[in-house]
Amino acid sequence: MMKRIFGLITLLTTISLIGIIVIQYSWLKNVVAIKNEQIANKVEMVEFEVVESLVDEKMKFAPDIPLDVLPKGAQDRVLEIFGPQTIAEHFTVEQIQQKIEKAFAANGLKGAKFQFAVLSNTNNIGPELASPDYLKYYEQGVKDSANYLLHVWPLMSLPDEESRPYMPQEKLVLIIYNIQGFVLKSISWMILVAILFTLIIVAAFYLTIRTILTQKKLSEMKTDFINNMTHELRTPLATISIAVDTLKNEKIIGNRDQLLSIGQIIKTENSRMNTQVEQILQAAQLDVNQVLKDMKDLQVHEVLRKIESKFALQVEEKNARLEIHLDAQRDGVAGHPVHFVNMLSNLVDNALKYCREDVVPAISVSTHNEKNWIVVVVKDNGIGMTKDTMSKIFDKFYRAHTGDVHNVKGFGLGLNYTKKMVEAHHGTIEVSSTLNAGSTFTVKLPLR
Ligand code: ADP
Repeated sequence: MMKRIFGLITLLTTISLIGIIVIQYSWLKNVVAIKNEQIANKVEMVEFEVVESLVDEKMKFAPDIPLDVLPKGAQDRVLEIFGPQTIAEHFTVEQIQQKIEKAFAANGLKGAKFQFAVLSNTNNIGPELASPDYLKYYEQGVKDSANYLLHVWPLMSLPDEESRPYMPQEKLVLIIYNIQGFVLKSISWMILVAILFTLIIVAAFYLTIRTILTQKKLSEMKTDFINNMTHELRTPLATISIAVDTLKNEKIIGNRDQLLSIGQIIKTENSRMNTQVEQILQAAQLDVNQVLKDMKDLQVHEVLRKIESKFALQVEEKNARLEIHLDAQRDGVAGHPVHFVNMLSNLVDNALKYCREDVVPAISVSTHNEKNWIVVVVKDNGIGMTKDTMSKIFDKFYRAHTGDVHNVKGFGLGLNYTKKMVEAHHGTIEVSSTLNAGSTFTVKLPLR
């Protein structure tokens, strides 16, 4: 049920995320198109203004005499007297350039890039006047109409002034060429905000999913732990209960040997329960501050020898080999007398627990010094672990649920406890392992 809802939530959120991104993209595309059109319109308006003012000025210096009725010689004479009459003759390139620039700036298109030329209608050789890069941009502008606005304006009088047909005919060619840049600049903040919010949503979504998954894992691990613990505690309780029932039997009461053996069973089961309860309590009520207060001077080598003898029986039962190489020159540390022993015992205990059936379990415990540290290495030739498992073994309640491991008893608390303890002793713990080949735990502790 949970799983289905979770899957549904993920699916719906993913779909809506994709939908939002697609819609945003198409909106932005629309905005770009609209802006493009707006700017093109504005450009045309500005150009019209410039053309109008140029024509106005041209009119001012045009002779107000119907020249065409005069003979040719007289026409030239009049023109000579009245001075320059074409735009090209009257203005310099810089003047026109400034005129256009000013008009763009006045219309909110400051910095628009353009090239222009004034051409004569009668003379087709080339422009009369042109900005420096006009020809280069003209060629590109003809080819690429999306990025270049290329307009040709006649520079002539308006219809009601047609009474002056003798006025020299000219045209203005204008090429505007950073249109896309203008459009992008004007909507860049929109794009940035859209990207930013989309990223925030995606990140939040990712974090939510990740949190849900971790929570789910944790709750599964806790359920496992409780099932496991219930089972582990019930078994000795049942055994003790049967043993006590047996004690009531008349025949047994008379038999001293049997009484003793039943007593022994009860004792064993009781101490098994004790160890388990101890382990759980250890992990549950671990008070690091208390541990720090009760630090004593400890010799690591002495502790390891104690651990060796503590496991001697188990090692023998398993037909295993436990070697210790105490090579460190200095082994004095500050440690808690009980917890320090437990934290290292856990490593040896695991090395024995997670051994392979098909080889003789060989465990080595060694020490050496590194600067002001003593390094304890616990190495086994057991089942090993995958990279994924390695990254989780120090988590509370974590147990690898694969193959052989399943029939090995445990609560997944041991390594979590060990790590916490090592840290309380200002040390570090690391693991390296190869599946089916063995594991190595390295504990580094500061010397006294
Ligand atoms: P438990 O042993 O109670 O499961 P631990 O915290 O001690 O809990 O260990 C967590 C897990 O790490 C184990 O379930 C096991 O999968 C893995 N593990 C620990 N030590 C070893 C080892 N020496 N070799 C292989 N796997 C190990």
